[in-house]
Amino acid sequence: MDFQKILNTIQEDLSHYDAFGNVASYIPELAKIDPKKFGMHLYGTDSQHYSVGDSDEKFSIQSISKVFTLTMAMNILGEDLWDRVDVEPSGDPFNSLTQLEYESGVPRNPFINSGALVIADILISNLDNPKEDLLQFVRKITGKESIDYDYTVAASEKSTGYRNYALVNYMKALGNIKNDVDTIVDFYFHQCSLAMSCAELATAFMIFANKGRILDTDEKILSKTKNKRINALMQTCGFYDEAGEFSFEVGLPGKSGVGGGIIAIHPSRYSVAVWSPILNEKGNSELGMAALEKLTTLTGLSIF
Ligand code: GLN
Repeated sequence: MDFQKILNTIQEDLSHYDAFGNVASYIPELAKIDPKKFGMHLYGTDSQHYSVGDSDEKFSIQSISKVFTLTMAMNILGEDLWDRVDVEPSGDPFNSLTQLEYESGVPRNPFINSGALVIADILISNLDNPKEDLLQFVRKITGKESIDYDYTVAASEKSTGYRNYALVNYMKALGNIKNDVDTIVDFYFHQCSLAMSCAELATAFMIFANKGRILDTDEKILSKTKNKRINALMQTCGFYDEAGEFSFEVGLPGKSGVGGGIIAIHPSRYSVAVWSPILNEKGNSELGMAALEKLTTLTGLSIF
């Protein structure tokens, strides 16, 4: 399979495509990103790397970080985790408050904001230095010590993050939040601010394509069962109220972020990251989705 040729074709095809949406502007720092950026990196389970465009430029991974924190929380709590957060697609926007009311403060899944905020609460309860531990975790699975938070982005989101404060306060009122509200949103805004390139993201997510193990070292990060569950959640809940559309178009487990990044994995063959900051109305990268649709069509490698 000539992955490099396929990535080149995708880049060339998409250079003629006019995206209709806008970059995320509700987080002021993200509004400054050049909308024309485009990068893609594919990492094969045969250890080969392929890339095009701005694949080495770091961007704000935003909600993609929810997969890292879920992995850490699953390793800490095991099945008890599912008393605090459900595993159903939400069919609602990522920052929705409405479902929480009639579902008694238990978020539909760990990838909508309310779910990720509960996961943040769990990590804060169980770890002495959750922000430092998250960094160590991401550095370990990428082998890149330089990965860090973007403190300017974290502060920027804090200045306008009213909906996330509302979500935590509401869940606290309903008994599903144990720690201090400010501590939880601070951790959450930092996890979302993680700055990583497509190459780094594809490397990090290789654990999910490689049965829970780091490809380079064969170190086990999570059990095969937990790995299966995380991939299942990415498949059914990774794109909010567009999870069905992503599954329909692309056919891979994946996760998006409002920084314009999308990560997807083919269990056993590859992990792939794409970055293009213009978002559609559901908050997912417009060109990113189109690029991955082309990838699975041209390679014939989806899970279906
Ligand atoms: N930090 C963003 C928020 O809470 C993450 C959302 C996303 O990437 N979908 O709104």
